[in-house]
Amino acid sequence: MCKACFDREYNEFDTYSEFEEFNKEFDSKIAKSVHFVENGKYRSDSHAVYKCSNCNQLWWFSDSDNHWRGYFLKEHNAKRKIDNDERKGDTVKYGCLVIVFLLIIGLIKSFY
Ligand SMILES: [Zn+2]
Repeated sequence: MCKACFDREYNEFDTYSEFEEFNKEFDSKIAKSVHFVENGKYRSDSHAVYKCSNCNQLWWFSDSDNHWRGYFLKEHNAKRKIDNDERKGDTVKYGCLVIVFLLIIGLIKSFY
């Protein structure tokens, strides 16, 4: 593994202390071995893209706010996470539709 890169990935920042820990590492590596490239967008997700100047690994960073926990991942893992999250969202959406549909059927039936 590349020494200049970040030691670990964060699927989400579970606790404030985890975010602090990340911040410390971020401060020590940013502008030295890892550089900001651009603000990126993927599906409905926006994030900051960072690149390791040693191995060219791209890292995606999404800041946490309110109920969004954020993440800091290698590009391919970030894409997988976003794909998974959106698929999960779709499942919930369709699940709700089915329930509403069944309720309506039940209502209609109760009138006859
Ligand atoms: Zn690297």
